[in-house]
Amino acid sequence: MSLLVKKYGGTSVSTISRIKKIADDISTEVRKNNKIVVVLSAMGKTTDQLVSMANKSSKSPNLRDYDLLVSSGEQISISLLSMILNDNSIAAISLTGWQAGILTNEDHSKARILNISTNKIKNILLKNSVVIIAGFQGINKNGDITTLGRGGSDTSAVALAAALKAKECQIFTDVDGVYTTDPKYCNNARKLDSLTYEEMLELSGLGSKVLQLRSVEFASKYNVPIRVLHAHQNGSGTLIKKEEKKMEDALISGIAFTKNESEIMIKGVKDRPGVAAKILGPIGDSNIEVDMIVQNVGSDGLADFTFTVSRSDFKKAIQVIEKNKKIMGYDSINSTKNIVKLSLVGVGMRSHAGIAGKMFKCLARKQINIRMISTSEIKISVVIEQKNLELAVQALHNEFKLDKNR
Ligand code: ADP
Ligand code: ASP
Ligand code: MG
Repeated sequence: MSLLVKKYGGTSVSTISRIKKIADDISTEVRKNNKIVVVLSAMGKTTDQLVSMANKSSKSPNLRDYDLLVSSGEQISISLLSMILNDNSIAAISLTGWQAGILTNEDHSKARILNISTNKIKNILLKNSVVIIAGFQGINKNGDITTLGRGGSDTSAVALAAALKAKECQIFTDVDGVYTTDPKYCNNARKLDSLTYEEMLELSGLGSKVLQLRSVEFASKYNVPIRVLHAHQNGSGTLIKKEEKKMEDALISGIAFTKNESEIMIKGVKDRPGVAAKILGPIGDSNIEVDMIVQNVGSDGLADFTFTVSRSDFKKAIQVIEKNKKIMGYDSINSTKNIVKLSLVGVGMRSHAGIAGKMFKCLARKQINIRMISTSEIKISVVIEQKNLELAVQALHNEFKLDKNR
């Protein structure tokens, strides 16, 4: 007998017939005497629709109300699955995040899980019942419902798997595993059989939305094996686990990208200590997260200060910069809204030189201009124009022969 946590994403529960199909798979597991905790996302695009309703109702929605609204989608899917299982004579109980004892901090819309009181879940499991828990949500110490950020059901599932010491956390989605890059952007993307937490942390952190970054952080911290699987096809998926000796030689494990970025160049700032702080101070105070930063100094003693922000923060960032022109002391602003960050990730980069050069040459051959570069031990990121994204992904995938086995 094993305890398994199974999480199903939005596409996998988008219709009643898909939920019924999942109910059949869960029934099979229960008949094998496994204890099952299910975590569900909201059906299909429900969360997108709720977010859009919030934005149509208010210019800047109150975040407590926002969380109450957007968390409601998961209540629909969990209750439907429970009804279907019980109709199939499989005992099941659906629980919201707070009923399941998921305590978070107070950071509405991007809350972090602080603790899970597992007593209630364990008692239900002891009665041989399936426990179905609403993903993406928890409760804070004031008794208010919180949400964990988009894609947060992955984190609910892994946190529950850690708290319950489950054998494995299975993430069922609309692809049959983690690929060398998003299969929607590259026709010869290859499914990986296994990945280390470290590699997956980089891929998720750099934009591969197949797993929310925090879920991988949790898994790595508590050593929970994650298996990514297709919700409606058979297969062994991709196992994400601790690094083992034989996994070490992967040169490049994958290509990740974030699409919703924009670039702002503040031209003609003084090349003096404190300038970066003067610019980034007001931006940070306005709760805008800055990602990449580059400063170029010209011969006239003036510098151009360029950085990227999420496209949803673009308008706000420009307003802040215009409002603070005197403090920041610049000549003009030059901005590009449609840029993307594309990253090559691989633990093998640590011991191999020349990857960056090969990457830049490949992009140059395709006439793709690199606007910014940043590197770390196991990744190289470049900022390019959005229109070149697919071309760049495909070219780099071919250049590094990612379609071939490691
Ligand atoms: P769910 O609704 O099940 O949570 P998501 O849409 O959040 O599903 O994540 C699955 C999607 O992640 C896939 O459809 C795919 O387009 C995208 N994706 C991005 N990078 C990768 C990758 N490296 N491997 C697999 N899928 C990826
Ligand atoms: N339903 C939430 C979202 O769409 C959480 C999730 O799907 O993981 O972001
Ligand atoms: Mg997701």
